[in-house]
Amino acid sequence: MLFQPGSPELLLYREYADAMGQLPVPTTVPATSLEELADRYDGFLLDSYGVLNRAEEPIPHAAEGVEWLKSRGKKVRVLTNNAALSEEDNRNLLCSLGIPLAPGEVVCSGSLLERERAGLDIRGPVFYMGLQSGREYLRSAGLESTDRAEETRVVVLASSRGYRMRRIAEAQKILRQPGSLLVVLNPDAIAPRPNGVMARVSGITARSLARETGCRVALLGKPFGEIYSMALDRMQLHGSRVVALGDTLATDILGARHAGIDCALVLTGVTPPSRARAEAKSWGIWPSWFLPDLRPPAGSRG
Ligand SMILES: [Mg+2]
Repeated sequence: MLFQPGSPELLLYREYADAMGQLPVPTTVPATSLEELADRYDGFLLDSYGVLNRAEEPIPHAAEGVEWLKSRGKKVRVLTNNAALSEEDNRNLLCSLGIPLAPGEVVCSGSLLERERAGLDIRGPVFYMGLQSGREYLRSAGLESTDRAEETRVVVLASSRGYRMRRIAEAQKILRQPGSLLVVLNPDAIAPRPNGVMARVSGITARSLARETGCRVALLGKPFGEIYSMALDRMQLHGSRVVALGDTLATDILGARHAGIDCALVLTGVTPPSRARAEAKSWGIWPSWFLPDLRPPAGSRG
């Protein structure tokens, strides 16, 4: 297993998978190539970490793969739970690594705040936990923030960075009130940091807060369905014309399968080629395909 037995990250992802329900096991899961996928689909939803980049490092062939897809007229969107950064800052980071992305081609879970605000009945100021860049999602949702715990019953958790422990204690105080709500803009349990380190991130913080306080929780982002609806709306494509590429079974693949979108597990991230089938079997989460990397067909460069 890539996750330690009994670890909070394993338990969290298990909870997501169990809550969403069992998926059918396909009879075969073949290996594929970017060229084969481009023959079948019009739209590509690409995960960022583990598919395009590892922190500040580009993954080999990712930039040329994206460029080649676009040269074939494919619609490409990066689908990410990295709500620490605004969509534009996510895009700038990827562009700085050579991934060719135009404005609007990053779809981040943070933008679900605007989309889901009315349904969640969020009114008045919210208590924000995250980096400055992620405050963009509050602005686009038309929400003010407050640092005064007595002024709100809503905590928006955008990322695991940008605040100190004391802020978690203040969030607990808010979330112990009746009718309080925790909105999580990145439900991920772990994220890769430089030097191969895996850090526990906001999904784990959210799980602890919810358990300690008994508050209501809205989890927005992969693997849950809202981000897929938003991405398809923005691409103006039907789900049957789209394939999702990701490296994490319990987020990218679980989410795409439940959204009815075909998907490939990309083997350049957290799931190495030697472990892919065993991991899929152990999670009970199977992709439509295995994709070694984003390499375009030979001779397509230049
Ligand atoms: Mg990933």
